[in-house]
Amino acid sequence: MMTIDLDKALLTAIGAVRRASVVCRAVQERLVDEHAIEKRDRSPVTVADFASQAVVCAALTDQFPDIPIVGEEDSAALRDESMASLRDAVVEHVGAEEQQVLAWIDRGAHDGSADRYWALDPIDGTKGFLRREQYAVALALIDRGRVVMGALACPQMDEAGVIAAAITGTGARAMTLDGDWATAKPIKVTAAAATADARFCESVESAHSDQSASALLARALGITQAPLRMDSQAKYVAVARGDSDIYLRLPTRTDYRENIWDHAAGAILIEEAGGRVTDIDGNPLDYAHGRRFEQNRGIVGTNGLIHDQVIDAIRQLG
Ligand code: AMP
Ligand code: MG
Repeated sequence: MMTIDLDKALLTAIGAVRRASVVCRAVQERLVDEHAIEKRDRSPVTVADFASQAVVCAALTDQFPDIPIVGEEDSAALRDESMASLRDAVVEHVGAEEQQVLAWIDRGAHDGSADRYWALDPIDGTKGFLRREQYAVALALIDRGRVVMGALACPQMDEAGVIAAAITGTGARAMTLDGDWATAKPIKVTAAAATADARFCESVESAHSDQSASALLARALGITQAPLRMDSQAKYVAVARGDSDIYLRLPTRTDYRENIWDHAAGAILIEEAGGRVTDIDGNPLDYAHGRRFEQNRGIVGTNGLIHDQVIDAIRQLG
């Protein structure tokens, strides 16, 4: 297999997630007047999801036509006649011809069996997007079961939005959404060595992460601070840049398998910022089993120093 230019991959990925964020923000702006969140109308997030995937796949197809993409969406639903108005909105936001937009979206249909592929979540944290809280556009490059590059845009983080990215072995950096990567600042996990001083973060959604189990675990670890709850892979940035010491994602069902696109970009950020990411059993995340982590359950990300303590405590709680 040909070697890949990871710097080119990173710059392409940053440009792609930034462009997708601009599209997401544009959809969100219209959402205020046209679609009241109270109506629980999910169509805006659907429009943004598809448009974001189209925009990212367009950039990747242009620069890396031979690398397949594992994306969350496919265009099957969008092609249905009942979806015509939604499809028109997607096409308008992407600003290209309809067939082209649908073809870009379908570039994301790969099954994850290739040695090298992109993992894309066009909008991670859709609930956060609808609530105008945290969401992310997440893109990672997987090579033989490992993440070698990740880029994450968090349009709602800080005042201006954040892009964080990393190439394996070179550290993680972050900047504002409209920043210049050449001036992006290195980010680091915390130096907390005692779990009692730690603050953990977890999903807002109790259906996505067991919040009663995490409260028990926190007690066992002597943690007194309330959890930082936020949607999306913004949690990985929170740990990678030291806002939080631990990211817990404790399974709510034994049969749930995590999607690779929900974690790939975030996980390399924590690792390159000096931390560790495993499943709840302490095993490395294994990206070589298709679109989901068939061999892993849940997620634990930490500053590294307290990782084993957290995994031990999970084991003891059974
Ligand atoms: P978060 O924003 O951390 O709540 O994560 C959002 C992601 O949770 C979505 O992209 C879904 O793919 C994923 N998800 C959906 N159902 C579950 C579940 N039962 N357990 C864990 N994650 C889930
Ligand atoms: Mg997601």
